[in-house]
Amino acid sequence: MSETLQAVRGMNDVLPEQTAAWQQLERAAREVFAQYGYREIRLPLLERTELFKRSIGELTDIVEKEMYTFRDRGDDSLTLRPEATAGIVRACISNGLLHNQRQKVWLMGPMFRYERPQKGRYRQFHQIDVEALGFPGPDVDVELILMTARLWRRLGLRGLTLNLNSLGTPAARAEYRVKLLAYLELHRDQLDADSVRRLDGNPLRILDSKNPALAEVIAGAPSITDHLDPESAAHFATLCAQLEAAGVDFVVNPRLVRGLDYYSRTVFEWVTTDLGSQDAVCSGGRYDGLVAQLGGESVPAIGWALGEERIVELMRLQGLATDSGSPDVYLVLAGPAAEAAGIGLAERIRDGAPGLRMETNCGGGSFKSQLKRADRSGARYAVIVGDDEAARQVAAVKALRGAETAQREVSFEQLAVELGRELQGATA
Ligand code: ATP
Ligand code: MG
Repeated sequence: MSETLQAVRGMNDVLPEQTAAWQQLERAAREVFAQYGYREIRLPLLERTELFKRSIGELTDIVEKEMYTFRDRGDDSLTLRPEATAGIVRACISNGLLHNQRQKVWLMGPMFRYERPQKGRYRQFHQIDVEALGFPGPDVDVELILMTARLWRRLGLRGLTLNLNSLGTPAARAEYRVKLLAYLELHRDQLDADSVRRLDGNPLRILDSKNPALAEVIAGAPSITDHLDPESAAHFATLCAQLEAAGVDFVVNPRLVRGLDYYSRTVFEWVTTDLGSQDAVCSGGRYDGLVAQLGGESVPAIGWALGEERIVELMRLQGLATDSGSPDVYLVLAGPAAEAAGIGLAERIRDGAPGLRMETNCGGGSFKSQLKRADRSGARYAVIVGDDEAARQVAAVKALRGAETAQREVSFEQLAVELGRELQGATA
């Protein structure tokens, strides 16, 4: 196939037969967010490059090598958003949403990272993101985690594990950094090239490495959990106690540091064993310093994001994804009089049975070929109108799925009610 006809590498088409599962996830998320009083925020896909450099951090994978950055015609450097938090903080500051106010918001949409494409890792992917700004926690930390747990329950997802850690304050982290650095320098010869490069700028990121060869060195490293400042330790203890009280299982994982610079205190990640090495499906953390760092007031905040591709894949693997909308009814219109009556009839049925999904045969065709289309559409019923039926204002209703039943005749008048009843009987 010619290259221009292929999607950009790492960017997926989501086809009609796949979208039902996406809608199922997004609907569940919207409903859960509403239950907790979170409101939607919609933002541009493009932001100034500077925003991501200053928030995510210069020495992170994202900023170092994953951003889609370009100059526009006005010579401004812009970047396709690689994540949502920076844009949300920017929007809250520039719209004055944090002046004597707090915000609980969510956002969903595409994110862009120039990564090596593989299963579960794409260059355009989709996140559902939630942020609570203006809350020091740990109560809101608990709330945000309970939202994720509720969402998994709603979807019926199984086998997810919550990893939890605290990174302390930036000052405590700086002290820990010195100790970690001393340890890593001792083991420099066991590090890979990426990690050696990180020794100078961002050694904590080495703990986040996915290279299995580093597992042993990382396991022996001093633990950040042992170096927390007293307030962060108390914050973390309360968080853990409240999660336990709420019945949420978790694992304290001292190696969990997350890849972005702006985190402080609480960080967490939901992982699965079902997706191979792309095991993180949802991750988040507290970023108490970010709003001030970007020029806003000093406002504590916390948020999380889930990867829609990975959750949808998990739903599919666990048999939870609804398959994409076959119609309930296919309307066969065989003959000129039937076609003429068909449009009015179809609209009448839609008025009378608004929950019914009905595909009307378009483009003519013989009775036989229309019935074939009806069958291929996946519809449960064919409603058949020929010229003779049109004259008598009746249609034949034929079951296409399940046990074979006799075809029966229903008047145009009664069709909407009858079909509505069939549909309810079938889903009850
Ligand atoms: P990973 O460790 O897998 O690289 P991450 O720490 O970079 O993930 P975050 O930036 O926290 O991920 O993004 C939140 C979620 O978005 C992840 O838990 C994951 O489910 C999803 N995600 C991140 N990057 C990608 C990608 N390139 N393709 C698909 N999903 C992604
Ligand atoms: Mg990543």
